[in-house]
Amino acid sequence: LRIKILSIGNELLEGRTINTNAAVISKGLADIGIATQSVVTIPDSAEEIVQALDQMLPDCDLIIATGGLGPTPDDRTKGILSNYFGQKLIKDESVYRDLKRRYGDGGSRLEEQAMIPEGAKALINPVGTAPGLWFDKLIALPGVPLEMSALLNQYVFPELKKRGTLKPVCEVRIMLERESHIAGLIEEFEQTYPDATFGSYPEFGCVAIRFRGGETDKIKHAIFARYPQRAFIAPSVVHALMESLTEEKSLLVCTESCTGGAIASHLTQVSGASDFLVGSYVTYSNEMKQRALGVKLETLKEHGAVSAEVVTEMVDGALENTDAKYALATSGVAGPTGALPNKPVGTVWAAIKERGGPTMLGLIPCSHKESREGIISFSTAYMIGALWLYVAHKEVLLK
Ligand code: ATP
Ligand code: MG
Repeated sequence: LRIKILSIGNELLEGRTINTNAAVISKGLADIGIATQSVVTIPDSAEEIVQALDQMLPDCDLIIATGGLGPTPDDRTKGILSNYFGQKLIKDESVYRDLKRRYGDGGSRLEEQAMIPEGAKALINPVGTAPGLWFDKLIALPGVPLEMSALLNQYVFPELKKRGTLKPVCEVRIMLERESHIAGLIEEFEQTYPDATFGSYPEFGCVAIRFRGGETDKIKHAIFARYPQRAFIAPSVVHALMESLTEEKSLLVCTESCTGGAIASHLTQVSGASDFLVGSYVTYSNEMKQRALGVKLETLKEHGAVSAEVVTEMVDGALENTDAKYALATSGVAGPTGALPNKPVGTVWAAIKERGGPTMLGLIPCSHKESREGIISFSTAYMIGALWLYVAHKEVLLK
């Protein structure tokens, strides 16, 4: 199935709106085994829409278009499409009844939204007024991301799933690995498994290997054999950690200085975080480290906040205050200011401790040339990865 995406909207070309809709569509298509051929972005102009359709329709099976279906005068897509396909607009009674039921007597606005090109099937919009339109070789969806997603999931993907011919995409992720390091592996796998296609994608804290076709299980197996400790199937590093912690019913407490809550922020982005995360102490000042975690004044004075000794006391304090099984701590110089002669920007001390066990301690291998943002982000990913490696495989990264 050859599918193209047509993103319609002036705001997309003016940089006011990021085209997330195209990404959502192509990701959804990839998940059901359909590769998107191209994404074309054009303004809300009849001329541009006609020209794009002329160019795109002949060499694809389906266009998924978004934008400009709403009730305001700047929403022109429906009129332009009905002209293009030579189909009169006819009031669709079932759409009208549905709109009236949900929005009351909206007068001409609802009437206008219920006018559907005669050859198109109306896709009733459960979260808005503009129905989607399914023509023979074109599906038009509203631009509002929530409305578009609702129609995709309710009508478009289920139907295309039946028509899809490609094998679905499989993914294996490698924890704390760089894309450049696996380039050789990808090349080798392409030769060993000529029936499959491979790609690698850097993601937060890992690199994803995506492949399609071939003997899926065999390929998965081969990747795991190559990375017995680092490979995982979960959709992100945070999901991987969540799975490992919830499986052993363990709780985690974080203490963060230089990462400023970034670790907790990442962990709480997945639903289900409350099953494993007690919380995070963002102890930025020395005073806060002492008050909240019982870090000793002498330790701070003698070794400085960015030190192995302080992160050790941070995890100890957090384990004492909570009933978490694991604690982690970061304290570093994220820069660009704050560097000390013996602690340049990028010096980040970290600790992980399992209750009753020894404290794993080490410097996070940040590049000293990184920006503040880069150092915080790398440290965050590294801590999530390091904890996962320990929980899942008892591999100690911090030493
Ligand atoms: P409405 O009923 O709200 O008018 P519509 O189908 O007319 O829906 P548009 O007017 O084109 O849609 O866009 C509505 C809003 O949706 C825009 O303000 C924009 O923020 C968002 N939007 C439109 N297209 C995209 C896109 N491709 N990606 C992300 N957001 C988009
Ligand atoms: Mg609109």
